[in-house]
Amino acid sequence: MTGVIEAFFKFLADYSWRGFVGILVASGAILFFPDALKVADWARPLHGYLVAAFIISAAVLATFGVTAIQASIRDRREKLADLRMVSGTPLTATWGVSLTSLPLEKKPMMVLICQMHFAHAENWSVILKRAYLKGTKEALPMAEIVVEGSCDEQPESICIGLTPLKVKPGQNLVGKIIFVDQFNDKHVSEKITFRPNTIPSSMHANRLQSSPNCVFCDRPVALEDQAKEAQMTAHTTCVWS
Ligand SMILES: [Zn+2]
Repeated sequence: MTGVIEAFFKFLADYSWRGFVGILVASGAILFFPDALKVADWARPLHGYLVAAFIISAAVLATFGVTAIQASIRDRREKLADLRMVSGTPLTATWGVSLTSLPLEKKPMMVLICQMHFAHAENWSVILKRAYLKGTKEALPMAEIVVEGSCDEQPESICIGLTPLKVKPGQNLVGKIIFVDQFNDKHVSEKITFRPNTIPSSMHANRLQSSPNCVFCDRPVALEDQAKEAQMTAHTTCVWS
């Protein structure tokens, strides 16, 4: 008897719900339309087994159905975290210019810095893997941000490197950051105003003495031609070419 039960559960585990649809339809047809199918004589002595097969396959299909619905509800809940965001002090939101890390591909990269408070009421952690502005690509991997729940006290410091530049020299950049979580779902921030992180000209002057040539065109840079938001020696016209 144990062997039969084991075989039955193995059957349940191995066969998909489609197998049970077959059993349900076949046993139901023989039970309810024995004359039409011309199986009345054959089916009569098997009546008890057919009823059992019909009821069991119906019960198994109902269980499959309930399980599938529960799984889809759970998936939906887990995949769409209701992540809330509040910007930190606007003073910390700045943009600057650096260089992409690929040595052969010298491109200007926009570096955005800001602070953000995150919260959610899920009973699991939201892990933010990537962040970018619409129309840009990440040129630097972002440090992963783990949002435990509703009471993260400190704002997170965000620092992302993006290409291409989406801002003109000396101007504010206004945009929404798109965060991507561990389920590849996107969470969009409110509009953030990034001020230009203008580097003091005394610092540019110092650097021009030790590295006078533009990283892009390799020609000397005069102080007045230096891109004010760039962390490296570069002509304004070469950064925004
Ligand atoms: Zn240049």
